[in-house]
Parts: sequence; structure tokens; C-alpha cells
Amino acid sequence: MAPAEVADIFRIHGPSYRETHKLPLNQLCTMHAIETCRTAELGGHRDECEECGHTKISYNSCRNRHCPKCQFLKKHPCRRAGTKGDENYTLS
Ligand SMILES: [Zn+2]
Repeated sequence: MAPAEVADIFRIHGPSYRETHKLPLNQLCTMHAIETCRTAELGGHRDECEECGHTKISYNSCRNRHCPKCQFLKKHPCRRAGTKGDENYTLS
């Protein structure tokens, strides 16, 4: 069983939390970004290996600075080296 992610917690408990707590717009937007990061709601893209032509379909990331997935990818060594970055990695 995969470990729970912040997005899972937001998707499960976010709606009831938002009903009982008044949040400022920026926090609502951040919750929505995290809930939808790397889901069909944000669409997807196709990556293709330049050497073998293998293709892979991936969901788009939200790129919100508070999103744990996006911040993890931003810190990845290949990202710092100036390569394409987050589009080439999946979280497990
Ligand atoms: Zn994200």
C-alpha cells in the first residue's frame, strides 16, 4: 500500500474541512492545486525518449510552490543541473 500523500488527505477531508472553516482565497487555491496535481483534471502530456522513441503519458503538475510533489521535483538533482526536470519523473 502506497503511503498517504497530502493530496489524498485534502481530497478525502478537504470538502468537509472547507465547509466548517472559512479559508482565504489563496489557501483555497493552494488546496485545489494540491488536490488536482498530477491528475486528469490538469491534463497531460507525452514524453518521448530521443534515443529509442519510447513514449510515456504523464499528468501535468500544478507547479504551486506549496505543493509537496512539485517541491520534491524542484529539488531533484537533475532539475538543478538544468535538464528538462519534473516532466521526466514520477513519484512512487
Ligand atoms: Zn503540484
